[in-house]
Amino acid sequence: MTPEQIGRIAPHGRTRAIQKGDVLYEPGDSPVPFFVVVSGELQAVRLWAETETLVAIVGPGKFTGEVNSLSGRPAILRMRVSQPGEVIELDRQQMQALLQTDAELGEILVRAFILRRVELVAAGMGDVVLVGSAHSAGTLRIKEFLMRNGHPYSYIDLERDPDVQNLLESFHIAAGEIPVVICRGQVVLRNPTNQEIADCLGFNQTVDQTQMRDVVVVGAGPSGLAAAVYGASEGLDVLVLETNAPGGQAGSSSRIENYLGFPTGITGQELADRAFTQAEKFGAELLMARGKRLLCDRKPNIVETDTGARIPARAIVIATGAEYRRPRLENLSRFEGAGIYYGATFVEAQLCTGDEVVVVGGGNSAGQAAVFLAQTASRVYMLVRSAGLADSMSRYLIRRIDETPAIELRTHTEIVALQGDDHLESVTWQNKQSGASEEHALRHVFLMTGGAPNTRWLDGCVVLDEKGFIKTGPDLSPEDLSASGWPLARRPLLLETSVPGVFAVGDVRGGSVKRVASAVGEGSIAISFVHQVLQE
Ligand SMILES: Cc1cc2nc3c(=O)[nH]c(=O)nc-3n(C[C@H](O)[C@H](O)[C@H](O)COP(=O)(O)OP(=O)(O)OC[C@H]3O[C@@H](n4cnc5c(N)ncnc54)[C@H](O)[C@@H]3O)c2cc1C
Repeated sequence: MTPEQIGRIAPHGRTRAIQKGDVLYEPGDSPVPFFVVVSGELQAVRLWAETETLVAIVGPGKFTGEVNSLSGRPAILRMRVSQPGEVIELDRQQMQALLQTDAELGEILVRAFILRRVELVAAGMGDVVLVGSAHSAGTLRIKEFLMRNGHPYSYIDLERDPDVQNLLESFHIAAGEIPVVICRGQVVLRNPTNQEIADCLGFNQTVDQTQMRDVVVVGAGPSGLAAAVYGASEGLDVLVLETNAPGGQAGSSSRIENYLGFPTGITGQELADRAFTQAEKFGAELLMARGKRLLCDRKPNIVETDTGARIPARAIVIATGAEYRRPRLENLSRFEGAGIYYGATFVEAQLCTGDEVVVVGGGNSAGQAAVFLAQTASRVYMLVRSAGLADSMSRYLIRRIDETPAIELRTHTEIVALQGDDHLESVTWQNKQSGASEEHALRHVFLMTGGAPNTRWLDGCVVLDEKGFIKTGPDLSPEDLSASGWPLARRPLLLETSVPGVFAVGDVRGGSVKRVASAVGEGSIAISFVHQVLQE
């Protein structure tokens, strides 16, 4: 920070003296204040088992903080004074006001916060240790949860690390109890659920779960995050509920190449991290919880969560997406985006030019994918569980498949195992009638078994189409509206469901285009209708 920039920050907070040895915050403290060093020096240190590791020195003109300063989540590091001097201290609200009013400082701080978090994650410099095994599905789940939530952690592999036995003994853990998560060197969780980890790390600590909100957004995929960014930036009080991690399905994409403005592509994780930080910068809050029920028979409507909260909202945006039907294969998530695909577009087709590929599924989407991929792949194995395609696929597609020599149909067949390290390298499938298994050296599997919308939790509140997706706006017929008791003289707005003030956006909405850009577009547009409803 230049003296001029420091001069702009000072009026937002208070200037105070610091003495050598003072601790400005400890791991676990929340919310974390923000400091600019005017004179003197601070040290950011990681604390583990009473040992300190120096992470950064913060001298004059430098500032503290990383993404937790925005989110209100607990501090990961200890910040202590190594040389006396003077600092400017801002609490979280003061810092958010600064970010929102001073574009130049906002850019510097947000960029630094994101880069510092990236460094912490890359170095495993966190307050969490995961003890697990490469062969355990629980370990993979927890790794994915921490990684997708951008939380730094260190990992100890039971099979590879000789010191692990000592660590387990010091925490009285039996080897059979892994995976184990150790939070801040104090709390030991044995094979915890994602919710237990979120609680232990204080993800929800500063979120008021009773306060009435202008908008509650359920789901933090691209559509929900877009609604959060636009809502919060336009002054609405926004709470986002997310059951797993910001980013949704897009977060599991290894490279999104067709999203506007990213000519070289962007990983789903990076896009999600940026969008989440952007939403937080504008003051949106995230509650790690599952929307369990929508109480739509009263005003305001209420979202009930699996944490036991009942959150009243003037408007609700349902952005819970769809879940691609995934076969039960042990290491499926490891290869998602690295050999396992849920869509067959030009991008994927390019990846497997000249290779043999597998398409799983007997519906039209699988048929289209097989025909499309056969143009570039050397062979397409089409695996279906049933005896043939006649019951599930359009005749024209069946004919095309018959006429394409590169497509080889295998009926009564299912994948039973996937093998590889960083990328899928071979696939084993089994004929369920004969019991015969075959292993093929194959690097690409397209799972085209359809998507199921995440609408079960709505429990009949809003009108759904025949496939369970939410009907909105012009898709709601007069019969739908009278059957659901639509109470207003006006018709539902675009993206509004059969309940006034409740909107549906992205993949969960019937007729939506299942793409990141359209999900983001719908989430943003919904906010303009939210404003309209709030005026009514
Ligand atoms: C592997 C993969 C790669 C893809 N690649 C591309 C691509 O390259 N380009 C492209 O345009 N599209 C791609 N897509 C499609 C794209 O990701 C989706 O269309 C997009 O993510 C839809 O966004 P959404 O916000 O509507 O829903 P989702 O992304 O599905 O997000 C929904 C969110 O809601 C949460 N949720 C669900 N139920 C609840 C509940 N009850 N309470 C709280 N939270 C809940 C979920 O955990 C999830 O985070 C890909 C999809 C996958 C699976």
